[in-house]
Amino acid sequence: MKVIDQLAKAKSTLFSFEVIPPLKGESIQSIYDGIDPLIEFNPMSINVTYHREEFSYRKMPDGLLKRMTVRKRPGTVGISAALKFRYGVEPVPHLICGGFTREETENALIDLDFLGIKNVLALRGDPQKNERVFVPETEGHTYALDLIKQIDALNKGIYLHEDMKNANPTDFCIGVAGYPEKHFESPNVEFDLLNLKKKIDAGADYIVTQLFYDNQRFFEFERRCRDLGIGVPIIPGIKILSTKRHLNFLPSYFHTTLPEDLSRAVLACKDNKEVREVGIEWATAQCRELREHGVPCIHFYTMGRSHATRRVAEAIY
Ligand code: FAD
Repeated sequence: MKVIDQLAKAKSTLFSFEVIPPLKGESIQSIYDGIDPLIEFNPMSINVTYHREEFSYRKMPDGLLKRMTVRKRPGTVGISAALKFRYGVEPVPHLICGGFTREETENALIDLDFLGIKNVLALRGDPQKNERVFVPETEGHTYALDLIKQIDALNKGIYLHEDMKNANPTDFCIGVAGYPEKHFESPNVEFDLLNLKKKIDAGADYIVTQLFYDNQRFFEFERRCRDLGIGVPIIPGIKILSTKRHLNFLPSYFHTTLPEDLSRAVLACKDNKEVREVGIEWATAQCRELREHGVPCIHFYTMGRSHATRRVAEAIY
């Protein structure tokens, strides 16, 4: 069932989480091992992230450097189909602009449609590791907005090749990313929210937010969305802080601010076991407040670790 239909039917806050494809060469069992402890909380959906190719330089016997391309975590579509059939839970594969031509995007959507997958999260993708700015593929999309327009067109039976007659319309429910602390490339919050509004007006059905640790930032983001006329469901994204390294990693990688109380509590921990307890306590308090506020669903960034998410889910659901 589409995410948007599940949200419409829900009587209380739903539960969803995301998984990351294993490194190439590893088995899908690691994904199942991460999902099994969470399945009893009846997830509305399970998101499967997409990881584009990376470049590296390998020194060749003649001393010259050769540019190599590798996708370290392939398998998004295959994992999505496997989850649908194994658990009967709706998968939400992530689809990005980076690395895709429009034609490749269309073919990926046709594969998903044939597999009976009804949901996608449409994203631009980050700049590649060795690039400072996002570079679209030739014949690819520059912004998530363009990708949403393509999916929306396919939902109306409009494919890239205009000479097709009576083409089968797809029926994708489209999720998009929102940023309670603004996207790091946006010049200001208003610019970022206007981009979000354009994504909704182009056909997106709901928003999942970037992770955040201060609920006030989410409430303010939600209020400004509503003021702008964005009426779709907004699902908060939660990641449980679990190591001291996260104090620097989360702000630098996800561009999120950690509240002073939280960073002080983490610094006072003698090891990561204690940090995990602090993280679980913090996320539980965040989720309780979000639930009382009436959010339609809480989305957990599990990053392959389900133990902490299970502890929070036990306290909340
Ligand atoms: P966009 O909405 O296109 O926005 C990107 C930037 O461009 C913003 O700053 C926006 O304000 C700006 N912008 C938009 N239009 C214009 C314009 N016309 N002129 C100038 N600036 C403009 N990444 C992955 O690679 N794989 C994943 O699986 C993945 N999953 C994610 C899941 C969630 C819930 C979230 C929140 C993020 C995820 N990301 C993932 C990261 C995401 O790809 C990055 O945050 C990326 O940098 C932006 O994606 P977007 O879809 O928000 O882009």
